[in-house]
Amino acid sequence: MIFTILEARKEEVVKKLSSLQKKAEKYNNSAFTFSVSEAYVKSIPYYKIDYINHVQYKDKNINVFVCDIEITENALVKYGNYEVIAKIEHAETGNIVTIFNEENNGLFNSFLHKKPYCEHCKTKHVRKNTFIVKNESEVKQIGSACLKDYCGIDVQSILYRNEIISFCEEEEKAISSYGINNLVYSVSEIVARAIEEIKKHGYRKSDSENSTKTEVYKAVRNEAEISEESKAKAEKYINYILKNENDINDSFMLNCLSIIKQKYIKASYIGYLCYFPVSVSKMIQKETEKAQERNEKSASNYIGSVNEKITFSVKSACLKTSFTGYYGITFVYEIIDNNENVLVWYTSKSNNEVKAETIKSMKATVKEHKLYNGIKQTVIKNAKAI
Ligand SMILES: [Zn+2]
Repeated sequence: MIFTILEARKEEVVKKLSSLQKKAEKYNNSAFTFSVSEAYVKSIPYYKIDYINHVQYKDKNINVFVCDIEITENALVKYGNYEVIAKIEHAETGNIVTIFNEENNGLFNSFLHKKPYCEHCKTKHVRKNTFIVKNESEVKQIGSACLKDYCGIDVQSILYRNEIISFCEEEEKAISSYGINNLVYSVSEIVARAIEEIKKHGYRKSDSENSTKTEVYKAVRNEAEISEESKAKAEKYINYILKNENDINDSFMLNCLSIIKQKYIKASYIGYLCYFPVSVSKMIQKETEKAQERNEKSASNYIGSVNEKITFSVKSACLKTSFTGYYGITFVYEIIDNNENVLVWYTSKSNNEVKAETIKSMKATVKEHKLYNGIKQTVIKNAKAI
């Protein structure tokens, strides 16, 4: 039998089933097992109560994490070739019949008027319960006191089966009542709502008043409209991060990546997704700038040959970066000549030679030719303005 339960209740349910499993083992029945599936998202109706008219009405659908539990509960009514297929409670007003396996439902009527007779001890004395036991082709009615003696199945074992089923049925019903406290949210919806909110008010930290997170929550609750533009942007950002998964190295984005991969998330992760659009748009911008730079410098060619003394024009020059090494600080200058060729100069001097805007040309020795990020660079040394 398969039951669906709220994922948030998984621990409780497993605890209960494990304890019943242990108890069943004491009655010599270890065939009762259960397994829990991975969590998945289920859309369920959420009901509200109209207190004036005293009726329940469906408010909306909500998404929750659920998992399936597969139980071999019928193992509890089987032993060897024997199987208890029904329980008959002999009440004064008539029999109450419980069929254990749906495939035997057709036999219901035949049990409805059975007297409390036991075919094992062949007596008819007053009994509350009897059981119908199948052994290959033979079907017999057995009193509860004789059941174990006849087929090895303890009545207690049957009671556990009933307990398990009613417990699971309760849990299944509880999905809609506990559900509202265990909502899950679609990642693309939250990202789209965050984009919408940031567009209106800019990003506002979670500790500030009317934070982006608070506003996104509000929008979810009110089921506010989301513009097509924001939806498209959300898809673009999500796809971007999934595609560039291997280039991510900051911890915030790595967390976002794991959250986004889940597709549906718990409320506690909404904050991450509210900042995500800001972070990812920065990433995209940086990449665009780099591509632009590559594009601009794609015309660059090598100048001269290694160790050759060269003279070149200076269209622009700038200090690209500096770093501290064994010999002290090294400054890295990038110079572009009038033919769009890129020259790079590593020097220990914070050099005014290349800072002056009046420089029209320089001379230097070629140290090496180097391809960097697809750009042909001529690395020079001993550069001087002329
Ligand atoms: Zn008997």
